[in-house]
Amino acid sequence: MRCAYCKVLACVSGSKNFPKNCPMSNFADVLERARNEYQRDEKVKKIASIAGIVEASGYIEWPRLREIIEFARLIDARKIGLAFCIGLRDEAAVVSQILERAGFEVYSVNCKVGSIPKEELGIPKDYQWVSKTGYVIGFVTCNPIGQAMLLNAYGTDLNVMLGLCVGHDTLFIKFSEAPVTVLAAKDRAFGHSPLLAIYTYYGKKYLEKYLEEKRER
Ligand code: SF4
Repeated sequence: MRCAYCKVLACVSGSKNFPKNCPMSNFADVLERARNEYQRDEKVKKIASIAGIVEASGYIEWPRLREIIEFARLIDARKIGLAFCIGLRDEAAVVSQILERAGFEVYSVNCKVGSIPKEELGIPKDYQWVSKTGYVIGFVTCNPIGQAMLLNAYGTDLNVMLGLCVGHDTLFIKFSEAPVTVLAAKDRAFGHSPLLAIYTYYGKKYLEKYLEEKRER
């Protein structure tokens, strides 16, 4: 399955002329099961349909924060969980206030909640305190399971991730009982806009060099 390289895009046009390796011809049964899921569970269908309404309502013009507010309103969310990274606590305070002003009950939770030492998770000593790039990162691990479980305990209707680390976000999504959406993906090098790594000259150069070095090793 290599949709990323497809130039035919039969899925977009609705054509039956599928290209080679197209999952619409190779895995029609899987896609049929997926299609049935939207009908099997009313909540799933509602999320899917409201996602489409929000997309169409503000296409190109709405910032993602507004899209989240409109989406949350339309799925009748009252309580919003905000799982944020300690490094984005200032941004979290602003986002929390905006969500409150938009009428939601907001429950925000810091990634370091629970104070679990990195040692306890088997993170080697030389990956604690100071990063390999020379920044102080402390001895307390991020605790995405704790963040998710606390928001579960508050009975949130929608959880928003703000800058959780790669992998910590994985666990947060896995343990969250409420549906999850992301406001910002952490990318300290690129202002939490990960695609700048492929849009910008510097980003492309950086990735090129990195991949070259990886190949040589
Ligand atoms: S689903 Fe088929 S037509 Fe659509 S992008 Fe993938 S390979 Fe191309």
